[in-house]
Amino acid sequence: TRFSDLGLSQPVLQALELKGYDVPTPIQAQAIPPVLAGRDLLGIAQTGTGKTAAFMLPSIDRLRASDNRIPFKSCRMLVLAPTRELAVQISASAKDYGALAGLKVQVIVGGTSVNKDRNKLHRGTDILVATPGRLLDLIDQNAFNLSGVEVLVLDEADQMLDLGFIHALRKIRDLVPKERQTLFFSATMPKAIKELVNGYCTNPVQVSV
Ligand code: AMP
Repeated sequence: TRFSDLGLSQPVLQALELKGYDVPTPIQAQAIPPVLAGRDLLGIAQTGTGKTAAFMLPSIDRLRASDNRIPFKSCRMLVLAPTRELAVQISASAKDYGALAGLKVQVIVGGTSVNKDRNKLHRGTDILVATPGRLLDLIDQNAFNLSGVEVLVLDEADQMLDLGFIHALRKIRDLVPKERQTLFFSATMPKAIKELVNGYCTNPVQVSV
């Protein structure tokens, strides 16, 4: 399989060429077509499998296709990650892949200035990568809302549960629009994760690598 066989747009294929990626990894080959088709996804995958591109590339094309404006104090795609390090890493990938598509990317994580985050998010963004705690702080302060979310990604969901984010994740689930696409990633599938998947995803395509 080549990236050009998966249905991705020219700007995304060009970004991949700039990155020097020749062939999709197994999770990319399996996940990209159903995500482009609008399906929810349950990906059981470890770090290092290429899962970031597996959710980012087709989501960028979904955002390009729906072509909505950037919502005030909200975002069109929300990526939740367990740690600052992972959130920053995902946002760097999103900037690489999304630049040619003209998408605005922001990242908010704990341990930095909340006031700076408030200012950053005021005009909204296409893609927001966030840790759950800081995101809820900003929502509680009316500095941000989730009404614009078209695509929601949970990355390393098992890690988020281990770090005690279950209540935050339930609250976020209640605040995102019902009509949205959800891409859910976890390295392991204990019972608590299955329950979380049921609350977040509708008839997800399951990909395991
Ligand atoms: P991830 O699992 O998303 O953290 O990605 C693991 C590493 O593989 C990252 O450094 C990516 O830049 C790289 N990567 C992802 N997809 C590909 C690909 N198709 N070809 C080559 N490298 C890739």
